[in-house]
Amino acid sequence: MGIERFSDEGIRRVLCVVAHPDDLEYGASAAVHHWTSAGIEVAYLLFTSGEAGMQAPPEEVGPLRAAEQREACAAVGVERLTILDHPDGVLQPSLDLRRDVAREVRTFRPDVVLTTTWADEAPWGLNQADHRVAGLAAVDGARDAGNPWVFRELVDREGLEPWHVSRLVVAGGSPLSHGIAVSDADVAAAVASLAAHRAYLADLPDHPSPDEFLPEMLAGQGRELGTDHALLVRVHDL
Ligand SMILES: [Zn+2]
Repeated sequence: MGIERFSDEGIRRVLCVVAHPDDLEYGASAAVHHWTSAGIEVAYLLFTSGEAGMQAPPEEVGPLRAAEQREACAAVGVERLTILDHPDGVLQPSLDLRRDVAREVRTFRPDVVLTTTWADEAPWGLNQADHRVAGLAAVDGARDAGNPWVFRELVDREGLEPWHVSRLVVAGGSPLSHGIAVSDADVAAAVASLAAHRAYLADLPDHPSPDEFLPEMLAGQGRELGTDHALLVRVHDL
């Protein structure tokens, strides 16, 4: 089956759920800029502040990476950024994570939840431990949000009524099913969003500069969709 073009019709809000600052900046943020440019509201929920991801001590790195993430969000038109304080590097599959996702879904009320693949192996290599946990928590929490009998305390104590998410978009998911066509402006914004992680990237000596590989990567995915640039994803109807 060929890759289908992803339709934005009827989408008002998109919630992106990932483990770390920068997880959305390897291609997904091009789609985010495409959406925000079309008037769709996009929010980010991060489980950790990525404090274990650099050579400097976590106490310094957490706030630094949170600030870089805010700048990355600004580059693609995202105002609502929530960074939770789960521990980076040792994220555990837990009901707490699922409840956190369900809470944000019921609060923000997205039509679409986007996350990154939870597969052991991603297209770019062996998947990272937190990414595997975060992806599944995003899926499960998105579904929990629609069930009135799961996490009843969200209704009883926080007044958060169930909300049904229509579609789940998985970046790096397999098999690929859809492509989100993005413009040159979206690609440029995505490059700027990754470049915003300045200190983080400077800490990785072998990391190519964002403008060296992101446009090329999105162009390669675009060829499969028959467009200049695209983000290829796996879509599930929920
Ligand atoms: Zn990550």
